[in-house]
Parts: sequence; C-alpha cells; structure tokens
Amino acid sequence: MSTSVNGGSVVGTTKHDVGVASGVGRTALLVAAARAIETHRDDSLAQDVFAEHFVLAAPASHGWPTRLCQVPDGEANPLWGRFARYFGLRTRVLDDFLLQSAHTTDARQVVLLGAGLDTRAFRLDWPAGSVVFEIDREEVLAFKHKVLDGLSAAPRATRVAVPVDLRADWGTALAASGFDPAAPSAWLAEGLLFYLPAVAESALVAQVDRLSARGSSLAYEVKLEPDLMTYRDSPLYTATNQQIGIDLLGLFAKEPRPDSAGALASNGWATSIHTPFEFTHRHGRGPHPEENDALAGNRWVFANKP
Ligand code: SAM
Repeated sequence: MSTSVNGGSVVGTTKHDVGVASGVGRTALLVAAARAIETHRDDSLAQDVFAEHFVLAAPASHGWPTRLCQVPDGEANPLWGRFARYFGLRTRVLDDFLLQSAHTTDARQVVLLGAGLDTRAFRLDWPAGSVVFEIDREEVLAFKHKVLDGLSAAPRATRVAVPVDLRADWGTALAASGFDPAAPSAWLAEGLLFYLPAVAESALVAQVDRLSARGSSLAYEVKLEPDLMTYRDSPLYTATNQQIGIDLLGLFAKEPRPDSAGALASNGWATSIHTPFEFTHRHGRGPHPEENDALAGNRWVFANKP
C-alpha cells in the first residue's frame, strides 16, 4: 500500500502497524535493546537506565538480550555486537548535539521527531525552562508512558507528548501542544527518515524550516546509498531478520531519497554531513567500516539556522 501526505490525513498504514508490537514501531524496541546493551558495557558511550525496562516489558521483544554477556557470540554477533554498538555511538553523538544546542544557544524547545523510546527528557541535564516535545504515533507513546510511569520516572525538563503521524499535518499538532515557532528550537530525527516516503521527508524538512526561528538547529540520519538493496545480504540486515524477525529493508521506503541537506542549505541553513565512522574515530570506539556494510551509506547531518 502506498503512503502520502495529504493535508492532514494519512493514506496507507501497512508498514506502520500500531504500537511497538510490529512494523516500524518494533524498531523502537530494537534501539532500546541496543541502548540497554550499551549502558552495561564497561566502555559505554551512552547511559540509558530506562532502555532495558522497555525490552523487558514488551511481548514483542521477549527473550532479547539487554547485556552483551547474554549473547552467546557476544561482540562477534552482527546484531547485538556491531549494530548495537552503532546505536550506542549514535545515541552518544546525538546526546552531545542536543546538550550543546541547549547549553550554548537560546533554544529551550527540543523536538524529538519519531521519538520512539527515546528517554532524553529523563536522562539529560537540561537548562531550566527547557521543554521536550516527543512526536510519535499514539500507541508507541502510550507504551512508553506505561513503562516509565511504572518506574515512577521523573522528567528533567517539561515533557510534552505529541501523538501524531509524521506523514500527516504534525505541525498543527505541535503548535497546539504549545510549541512556539518564534523561539529557537533544537530538532532531532534519529532513525526516522528512511521509514518515511520521500514526499513525507521533504514535507517534514520544509515544516521544520518553517517552524524554526533563527538560532535553531537540527540533526538527522539518512541513508545515502542509491540502491538500498545493494547490501541486502549484509551480516547486519541478515542477522536482524533472522534473530529477531525485523526485516529493515522491508520497512525502509525504497524510492530515491530527497536531498534534504541541499534543501536546508538553499534556505540558509549551515549544514555538515558526517559518516558514523568519523565519530568512532573521535571516541576511540564504535563500528568500523567492513565489506558488504549496511552502514556504508549512513550519514548524520547537522544543521544550524543562523
Ligand atoms: N528516534 C527513536 C530512537 O532513536 O530511539 C526511535 C527510532 S525507531 C527506529 C523509529 C521510530 O519512528 C518509531 O518509534 C516509529 O514509531 C517512528 N515512526 C516511524 N514512522 C512514523 C510516522 N509516520 N509517524 C510517527 N512516528 C513514526
């Protein structure tokens, strides 16, 4: 079934099944499991003490590891070794991006697009007056609230859940939740854009631009390989499908991706594009390039609106 952005309603939900039980929502559990494993590493890059609780609470992640010692082949496992480490590195880099935006600019609004089981509102040291808006589908956010409420977790900023589909008119929902487009903001789309149709990605980036006052910043992840199927037999995709039944390539939108960094640059944003491996080098740990690498086209894009 095809999907489209059509003035507020969403056409096509085949790949976006409800909650974290299946479809793209279940990928949020994959990232949570990876963050749990990262948290318990001796050389951890990022700490998320809530992550393992999502994995343990959801029937859809029954039996998944939350520590590397629970994985028989440990580090050598393409999914819970290298791929989980990738998510750990990504978490750290994007934690740093948001904290730098919060502490070195006037941005007190943070918007997590496709927030999933991101617990940054609870984990990070936000300046006084910060508001974290979390956008995802209602059922995903409901599962997240249930788990966090059960832990009596307390957010470290004002936290506003915005349950809406990002293929629809999410800007209106965000504004109705108290977001102020006249004030600067920091935006994050982590592990999101490759699940959206190209038209929805372009609409999302244009919307972020419209809602961003000067002094705003944005970070997002894209996959730049011209043909996603190039790495269909890679250890990373194969292990993810075989071990936990998540067919990432089946969930990704297949059409050519828009040049979102170019669109932002033409609207006056300053952009920089990095491979994850640059951050592996910077932190002294993380994934390295390999043959037939599903991470080869991954890029992390950072943008500021001066
Ligand atoms: N950003 C989170 C993180 O890194 O922990 C979650 C990443 S998870 C791989 C992808 C998330 O995108 C899921 O929570 C999913 O529900 C959300 N998502 C995908 N398509 C969406 C859509 N059309 N509208 C809202 N959320 C969507």
